[in-house]
Amino acid sequence: MPQILLKGGRVIDPAAALDATLDILVDGNTIAAIGPDLAAQAPFADVIDCAGQLVLPGLIDTHGHVYQYVTGRFGLNADHCGVQSGVTTIIDQGGASCITLPGFRRFVAEPAATRVLSYISAYLVGGLEGHYYPDLYNPACLDAAATVKSALANPDLVKGVKAHAEIGGFARWGLDVMRIASRIGRDAALPVYIHFGQLWPKPEQGGREVNPDSIFNQVVDMLKPGDILAHPFSRHPGGFVEENGRLHPLVHEAVARGLKIDVGHGSHFSFKTARIVLDAGVIPDTLGADMHGYNTHVPAPAGTPDSHPDEEHSFLGRTQFSLVSAMSSMLALGLPLNHVVAMATANAARMAGMEGEIGTLKVGGAADISVLDDRRGRWVLEDNEGTQLVTDRMLSPLFCLRDGIRHDATSPTLPLARAA
Ligand SMILES: [Zn+2]
Repeated sequence: MPQILLKGGRVIDPAAALDATLDILVDGNTIAAIGPDLAAQAPFADVIDCAGQLVLPGLIDTHGHVYQYVTGRFGLNADHCGVQSGVTTIIDQGGASCITLPGFRRFVAEPAATRVLSYISAYLVGGLEGHYYPDLYNPACLDAAATVKSALANPDLVKGVKAHAEIGGFARWGLDVMRIASRIGRDAALPVYIHFGQLWPKPEQGGREVNPDSIFNQVVDMLKPGDILAHPFSRHPGGFVEENGRLHPLVHEAVARGLKIDVGHGSHFSFKTARIVLDAGVIPDTLGADMHGYNTHVPAPAGTPDSHPDEEHSFLGRTQFSLVSAMSSMLALGLPLNHVVAMATANAARMAGMEGEIGTLKVGGAADISVLDDRRGRWVLEDNEGTQLVTDRMLSPLFCLRDGIRHDATSPTLPLARAA
């Protein structure tokens, strides 16, 4: 394989406190050198001109749904969300369970060009149809011991545990499911990733009254440092922003106790909610696109169920998103570029328990590198509430190297930017 020389890009690696115009030389599947003007060292390399582009550690999507086919219409193709979108590593959130993890390894993780990791579902059935049928997720449908055993037997693949804390579940079962999920995380010594914001409708009959603003404090009490609170910018109730439109008073305390925050962009992402949370001084640690078969424009496998709460606005020609377009949204909201890059690299690697191994550029390390276009102009960003934000900066994926192999950004799920 010829060497590859990425020439003259803006190389940003927050893990190494690096932000400079540099060359990167790739030899086989590893990074051979990083420095100014490496052309003389590599006269026979394939040179790729990266002037004006961002050259970043391989991007890590902390929230994917890629158990394709097994989770029905919900699961996307791992390489569409991964290397074909400029992303070298994707963490599937709760698609696979202790029962179905072997299939996830064999049929998703192994064949993918993308590095695929799993936050294992706390539930026996995993994330079928995006958790559409609430009765599959009651406390009797969890097995803590079996899930811990599965996680501990697959440490290369399983990096955390996925669970939900939301109104529909609390109305049905109270705290029981979250209690079991939290125990799985402690016993397996893995972080628990908790979905906030309403997912299931309230039960048609029975069920307890739940004040959406009471969920956050009850859940935070049972978590450990390193556990992850997801969807801070969701427009759905029961999360970071109270019904009165203000930040939940316990969010700052949760951060002080070592809990982490993942954006988990999704189709529920709201610029209004984001503004409230950011203005209150809460900065998410990681990003996560949260794309799935209901919020992207991909053909559904024939005969799969066709309704889902996350679907509501996603086929009206409005927001289509990806991990990199979510980075553009974070910039438009005022987060600094270096933090936005850290969210999808160094911080995400920490969430995967692979700090220093992925999410950074180092000589001798794996050649996982993402190259993004970084354009100036005027574009309209729009969320699914119809809120528009005009931005002057648009990042889009050009290609990535995954273990030294080049993949161009050709995924059918990638959004098109709309000019202002
Ligand atoms: Zn999700």
